[in-house]
Amino acid sequence: MSALDLGLPATVPPPEPGGLPAEVTIWEVGPRDGLQNEREVVPLEVKLEFLHRLAEAGLRVVETTSFVHPDWVPQLADAADVLAGLDRRPGVRYPVLVPNERGLDRALRAGVTDIAIFAAGTETFSRRNLNRGFDAQFAMFEPVVGRAVAEGLAVRGYLSMVFGDPWEGPVPVEQVVTAGRRLLELGCEQLSLGDTIGVATPGQVEAVLRAFDAAGIPPARLAVHFHDTYGQALANTAAALRAGVSAVDSSAGGLGGCPYAKSATGNLATEDLVWMLDGLGVRHGVDLAALADTSAWMARQLGRPSPSRVVKALISD
Ligand code: MG
Repeated sequence: MSALDLGLPATVPPPEPGGLPAEVTIWEVGPRDGLQNEREVVPLEVKLEFLHRLAEAGLRVVETTSFVHPDWVPQLADAADVLAGLDRRPGVRYPVLVPNERGLDRALRAGVTDIAIFAAGTETFSRRNLNRGFDAQFAMFEPVVGRAVAEGLAVRGYLSMVFGDPWEGPVPVEQVVTAGRRLLELGCEQLSLGDTIGVATPGQVEAVLRAFDAAGIPPARLAVHFHDTYGQALANTAAALRAGVSAVDSSAGGLGGCPYAKSATGNLATEDLVWMLDGLGVRHGVDLAALADTSAWMARQLGRPSPSRVVKALISD
């Protein structure tokens, strides 16, 4: 597997300082991060069509589901069925979230080749989301990542609450860098920095990315995951691109939020991201019209309009 297969911009020259990458890898999270917040269980065939349409629209990384315990997230209890029914498009990666070793066992049985783990950037969120302390989470993830790497899987690490925590407030940058480094040292090839409650602003994004770079973790190892709670997701993404990041998480139609942060509105919408990248002349490979059609279709399945500004602008029904 080449660096390009792993989503790393191996053939793209590094941007000039303050410049933009020539190409961005969009990590589509709608089917997992988006749907996991939906109370009403979405039928399997709708999920499969959603995945199919996202890949057809040109997305090359589509996070497919999570092997979280079905009691925690009933919406994703059909993870194995989703994987079994997936109409895999050549050249598309279908990573899945794996919370622990039991989840890894299920993912391996389903034949996955890409996984992601979800770590907490703060003590409080670690206790609430993972039921263990900040330090103890790494001991839990160590055998997950170790076994996955030994099996030849690509592993991504999510780090959440990077830019603010609803219980602790501001999160020290050194704590974030330390946590991120520990995930990379476990064997994660890429680290996705999550603004889980959507409070980040562009100057803070630059400061966090500078701190990682100063600690020897370059932007090529990083992705960004913004929420649009305060309307800052695109501004934050632009700041990250100018700092050298070329992997961006987003969710078709802006699906999803965070069950632990009541105020957290949706993920950055993939359509909004694509519109900005088009304007900036940054390549991404996505057919915007096909994607917006897909999100409008999914919104009809869910019974409410997409929160994406671009979907609203492009789709008149
Ligand atoms: Mg999210």
